[in-house]
Amino acid sequence: MRNYFLAGNWKMNKTPSEAKSFAAELKASLKGASHKLMVAPSFIAIPGVAEELKGSNILVGAQNMSNAESGAHTGEVSPEMLKDAGVDVVILGHSERRAIYGESDAFINEKVQLALNHGFEVILCVGETLDEREGGKLEEIVRTQTVEGLKNVSESSLSKVTIAYEPVWAIGTGKTATPQDADDVHAFIRKVLAETYSSDAAEAMVIQYGGSVKPGNVKELMAKENIDGALVGGASLKVEDFTAIAKFD
Ligand code: PGA
Repeated sequence: MRNYFLAGNWKMNKTPSEAKSFAAELKASLKGASHKLMVAPSFIAIPGVAEELKGSNILVGAQNMSNAESGAHTGEVSPEMLKDAGVDVVILGHSERRAIYGESDAFINEKVQLALNHGFEVILCVGETLDEREGGKLEEIVRTQTVEGLKNVSESSLSKVTIAYEPVWAIGTGKTATPQDADDVHAFIRKVLAETYSSDAAEAMVIQYGGSVKPGNVKELMAKENIDGALVGGASLKVEDFTAIAKFD
C-alpha cells in the first residue's frame, strides 16, 4: 500500500555546474523508474537542478530551510525562495543539523510546521547516536524526536510527511543497521505514530531508512515490512549507484 520513496541527499557536495550536469545524467538513467524519487542538492545548486529535472520523475529536495518567513536572518534561505527555485520537498532535522549546528526538536518543529504551511513535503529525520543506543535510550530518543518534530502537525497533514530513520552511527561510516534492527525501529516509530495519531496514519506513513545504504544492501533493507524507502548520502553521488538503488527491484 505504501509507495517506496528513494531520496538522495547530496550534502555539501557538487558545485552548481557539477550538480546540473549530474542531474541531466540522472534524469536519463532514472527514466521510467517506478518508485518515488528525489534528489537534494545544496541550496545554491537547486535552481540549475530544478530546471534540468523539470518534467522528470525526480522531485527536487532542499537539505534545510529557515524557520522564518523572511527578513533579518543572515545566511538563511526562506520557504518562498525554495518554492520559487522549484523545491518540492524539504529535509528537516538531519542529524548533521542537530549535531553540528545545534538544532533542537523545538526549532526543527518550527521548520516542519512552516514547510507544511507553505505546501512542501517534509522528510523529518530522526535517529540515535551510538552512545544513546548503547545506553538503552534508543526508544526514548526516537520517540521524542518523532513526537516533538511533529508537534501541532495535524493528522491530515501527515500525508505530506516522510520520516527518515537514520541511526547516527550508520551515517557515512559504512556500518548499516541490520535490516532487522532497522525494521524493529521502524515498527517502533509506527507504534509511536499510532499512539499519537491513529493506526491508519501510522500504517500510511512512509518511513525511510538512512545510513550507508548502497546498491549491495538496498534490496534486503527494502524487503522488510516497515522499511518504505531510503535517504541516501554517499551512494547518491554516483549515477550508477543511485540508479541501482532507485531501481532496486
Ligand atoms: P550515508 O548518509 O548514506 O552517506 O550514510 C545518509 C544520510 O545522512 O542521509
